[in-house]
Amino acid sequence: MEIKRTRIVELLNNPQFGEIVCVKGWVRTRRGSKQVAFVALNDGSTIHSIQIVVDLAQFDEEYLKGITTGACIRVNGLLVESQGQGQSAEIQAEEIEIYGKADPATYPLQKKGHSLEFLREIAYLRPRTNTFGAIFRIRHHLAFAIHDYFNKQGFYYFHTPLITASDAEGAGSMFQVTTLDVDNPPRTETGKVDYSQDFFGSHSNLTVSGQLEGELGAMALGGIYTFGPTFRAENSNTPRHLAEFWMIEPEIAFYDINDNMNLAEDFLKYVISYALEHCKDDIEFLNKMYDNELIERLNFVLKNKFVRLTYTEGVEILEKSGKKFEFPVYWGADLQSEHERYLVEDHFNCPVILTDYPKEIKSFYMKQNDDGKTVRGMDVLFPKIGEIIGGSEREADYDKLMNRVNELNMSLDSLWWYIDTRKFGTAPHAGFGLGFERLVLFITGMTNIRDVIPFPRTPKNAEF
Ligand code: ATP
Ligand code: MN
Repeated sequence: MEIKRTRIVELLNNPQFGEIVCVKGWVRTRRGSKQVAFVALNDGSTIHSIQIVVDLAQFDEEYLKGITTGACIRVNGLLVESQGQGQSAEIQAEEIEIYGKADPATYPLQKKGHSLEFLREIAYLRPRTNTFGAIFRIRHHLAFAIHDYFNKQGFYYFHTPLITASDAEGAGSMFQVTTLDVDNPPRTETGKVDYSQDFFGSHSNLTVSGQLEGELGAMALGGIYTFGPTFRAENSNTPRHLAEFWMIEPEIAFYDINDNMNLAEDFLKYVISYALEHCKDDIEFLNKMYDNELIERLNFVLKNKFVRLTYTEGVEILEKSGKKFEFPVYWGADLQSEHERYLVEDHFNCPVILTDYPKEIKSFYMKQNDDGKTVRGMDVLFPKIGEIIGGSEREADYDKLMNRVNELNMSLDSLWWYIDTRKFGTAPHAGFGLGFERLVLFITGMTNIRDVIPFPRTPKNAEF
């Protein structure tokens, strides 16, 4: 009998008992007796599997042997109220079709409770687990919430290029993009590689940030945001760094640093509350299985105003703390995750926004303060994560920006167009970058960034 497939989430949320339904999904477990089999079926639409009750007498015994963990099946049957605990509905199977078997001898996801490390090695299958199903559904809802937020603010989704010839941003090492024969590249008279013969006619890279082009958008459309992949060839094997990650970068004309901080705080709170509302079951699952304080922490961030202070004040607190840090702290030092987390978790017990960093440790485009030493940068620091957002008011003054470019001996060859914005209708403006995976880390309570993106790219690993 042909019936339209219903997603399991819909069956469980709004069960029409007494109807014949059709579900399709992957078998999580099978147990039972000689008379009856209970199959937990999951189709990815919810953390909850639906129970299929199979009266063995009604089916071919040999055929049913194919229903093992991991197999994909279609079931038509009667939807009835569940007798078992914790389940609202179950299906009494009337017709079963096996789409694809999964041999128990070789299907890797057999036992319950595989370690996250093991699951990373089989990243091609881990979306089939409860944990990764939950994480990737949350990831989806967050992406949606981000577009929703900026759209409501009147910001435009602006697509910045992934391939760029400007390697001036200085945010991290870059991956080169070339079609030259790397074993035998064309050379100039002086023996250097001749990039004028390369595909783009110049040395080019994968972008580390869409900000520079994003600013061009803000200087025309008022408020824009980017949301796309960025690439950093930094050889930092940490639980917070990926070589390929997604970044959200709003850039807004006529914003100063205070507007920028207000936006960052409001935005983060919006997406967190969106997740709590739309991913309740998944977050509750992760709270139960991985991090018992997760929901509490999310609500805590929602309820409290982020503490705002300057870098200088932050360093004073760290110096006075008497705590022994692995990396020494002094005015001028780039704060490490341990310092950031001390401020957030031990000192203030609250998310923190640090501003006015020494210009030496920040990028050339940040607005210079009158003290000649600091720039109007801002980092948002979160519990468990450290830096989640980095941003600034941008230097809008042509002369000041050029001074900094010259001080740093930067080449204008690939940057002239950026500098030009300060000549043609410049305006005060500000923006920030949020690492999407750091946000997903925070909201799922996971501790390793490799576990919140389907196929992580890290040093020595680009499998799947
Ligand atoms: P960190 O000091 O943690 O390396 P950063 O100062 O290099 O960060 P920015 O260049 O300001 O970071 O980038 C903006 C945001 O992008 C950061 O706040 C962070 O959320 C995220 N981010 C930066 N590098 C990575 C990475 N390698 N993997 C994942 N997210 C990242
Ligand atoms: Mn970095």
